[in-house]
Amino acid sequence: MTLVQSLPPNLDGPLDTVVVLPEGFSGAEVARVCRETAVQFMNESARWGKPELAMWLAGPYAIATRHVKKEEGPNLLGGTPLIKEIDIRVVDRVIRAARTEVHQALAQVCADQSSAFVLRALIAGTVTRCEDGLREPAWAPVRGASMRLADRVLSLFAVDYLVRPGDYETDLSICASCSSITFDAYARRRDYCSLHAPQPARKGLTVPYPGLPQLEA
Ligand SMILES: [Zn+2]
Repeated sequence: MTLVQSLPPNLDGPLDTVVVLPEGFSGAEVARVCRETAVQFMNESARWGKPELAMWLAGPYAIATRHVKKEEGPNLLGGTPLIKEIDIRVVDRVIRAARTEVHQALAQVCADQSSAFVLRALIAGTVTRCEDGLREPAWAPVRGASMRLADRVLSLFAVDYLVRPGDYETDLSICASCSSITFDAYARRRDYCSLHAPQPARKGLTVPYPGLPQLEA
């Protein structure tokens, strides 16, 4: 009798379920929506208060994260408070702290190509592998009621990074003047967005960045 046998697959065990995006949704489309939603938070939330954050969470963020919801057990402390129950000053602090944290993560990518925030999102389970409508591998952000605001924004950037890492290596730019986030190779090289790029001394330049081929006046 053979003592060592190859074990048959455990068909009774839990199956590794993979989320499948609805038909017509590609991984690229999910990434595009994630980037747009995350950049909107980064570039506009300095002017936001509680109503604007609530609208972003219930609108663009809810749409970007509608595919996967995190399974969460009962919270013995009574659950996560709704945004309308939170003091306005606390909301302001949370928005500011989230923006600072995400800026730091993205600045690290610009400085040394470090994608540590993506790895953290994968480990924390705030992004997940899935399949798109054509059964091709894709990524999606995971929405959980108890997630920190910074983690929500970072999960969107992480999904985008996993689909388009090259854009983060060469195009991601944080303006040294206004801190706005853009995906623009010229802005990346200059460290400024198109609004704050140093103006050339020469008159008649018709392009927003110095160093580009100049049109003859
Ligand atoms: Zn700027």
